[in-house]
Amino acid sequence: MNELLKAPRPSPFGLWNQTAAARPIFPQLESDFTAETAIVGGGFCGLSAALHLAESGTQPVLLEAEEPGFGASGRNGGQVIAGLKLDPEEMIAKFGRERGEALHRFSAGTADLVFSLIERFQIQCEAHRGGWIQAAYAPKVLAGIERRAGELMARGENVELLDASAMSELTGTNFYRGGMLDRRSGMVQPFSYARGLARAAAASGAMLFGNSRVKRLIRENGHWRLETAKGSVLAKEVLLATNAYLGDLHPGLRTAMIPVASYQLATDPLPGDLDRAILPSRLPVSDLMQLGVYFRRDDAGRFIIGGRGSFTERERPDLFDRIRQHARKLFPALRAINFPVRWGGKLALTVDHLPRFVTIEPGLHAAYGCNGRGVALQTLMGKLAAEHMRGIRHDDLPIATLPPARYPFHSLRLPAMVAISNLRSLRRIFARD
Ligand SMILES: Cc1cc2nc3c(=O)[nH]c(=O)nc-3n(C[C@H](O)[C@H](O)[C@H](O)COP(=O)(O)OP(=O)(O)OC[C@H]3O[C@@H](n4cnc5c(N)ncnc54)[C@H](O)[C@@H]3O)c2cc1C
Repeated sequence: MNELLKAPRPSPFGLWNQTAAARPIFPQLESDFTAETAIVGGGFCGLSAALHLAESGTQPVLLEAEEPGFGASGRNGGQVIAGLKLDPEEMIAKFGRERGEALHRFSAGTADLVFSLIERFQIQCEAHRGGWIQAAYAPKVLAGIERRAGELMARGENVELLDASAMSELTGTNFYRGGMLDRRSGMVQPFSYARGLARAAAASGAMLFGNSRVKRLIRENGHWRLETAKGSVLAKEVLLATNAYLGDLHPGLRTAMIPVASYQLATDPLPGDLDRAILPSRLPVSDLMQLGVYFRRDDAGRFIIGGRGSFTERERPDLFDRIRQHARKLFPALRAINFPVRWGGKLALTVDHLPRFVTIEPGLHAAYGCNGRGVALQTLMGKLAAEHMRGIRHDDLPIATLPPARYPFHSLRLPAMVAISNLRSLRRIFARD
């Protein structure tokens, strides 16, 4: 059979599960006990919160429904991107100069935290900090990138503009008119990074439990009881770090975000000539096409490409096909190459593209809304949440004081919500612009 027609092997976690560092085993919760702080969800956010809480002297308990990294954190593109979706001047227009600049500084440091944790805990996760390319095909998009780069350079950030020939040299395709190289950013093997964070949190004193889905949150004498199938934890301060995997745990929080899927495909390690020709710089790329495509290589030489997935739980083979077609448009030599692995995961969108750290009820907090940029951001959000749970306030950070933004018409089915919500802005989320 023609290689191109072979169906990719569907896999719940995809490539990263196959190449990740060894899986740390955490027991299931099987008793009832009391803790000062507890975290629901073992993605980057929950694991970072557990690590930072443990380092601050409390012994947090983390309850994960499956295993650390099971959610978006073990499935994403591994692009460690500094900054938020909003540019500095947009944040200033929204929050005023002082708070807007504070938010810019906060977001500019997200990748620093990731790479410093990797260094400090010697996490083996194919970490590279050579930069990240934001690529533009359309003139209008390029103009936006030029404005963004100007705002960042004016603030001393390590970014530079790339013309068409520089783009071609770095990416190996002539498709793009130009782009921006953001040297603050980089990439990791995301599942290995999640597992490394889990190990670091446990070694620092956090108690981690796997296969321990929290079924109910019960208010009890000013504390919160987290009930699982075989045990419970009673805690004064609780963080919901479940992002798009929240499910029915807190119906109110559910209306504050839209969970959407992103899909990825990977080749086997590329043979010699293609290995040199495709993405020779090895820098991860996000492209501002409607499909919101992002691509990279891994250390073994595979080519990995992702893009917009379904707005429902149902898998959309046609969207996998579109992503694959786009890969072959960028790099015609890939027409002869099979993409044997495919997978997807869910991320959380907020109505204004900003992440949230909110206190829903006394002692019950949530950090969510990565808007497709959560590898670095959710690591820092976890640290912010840990500090907040230990009594440190961040009043200069708008995300720490914004109310949970409700999505209008959330009770409608997802596709309808997406249609009602600003389609242009959804494209923007996926395009990581
Ligand atoms: C395919 C894809 C590609 C992406 N690519 C990138 C990228 O390249 N760069 C980037 O910056 N961002 C990317 N993102 C976004 C990024 O992966 C997420 O923002 C980030 O991983 C979210 O981390 P988190 O800890 O908040 O949530 P998650 O990693 O989703 O973790 C939530 C956890 O909560 C657990 N959970 C849920 N309910 C319960 C319960 N009741 N009890 C116990 N546990 C529970 C889940 O099992 C899950 O493990 C991508 C996302 C996807 C899906």
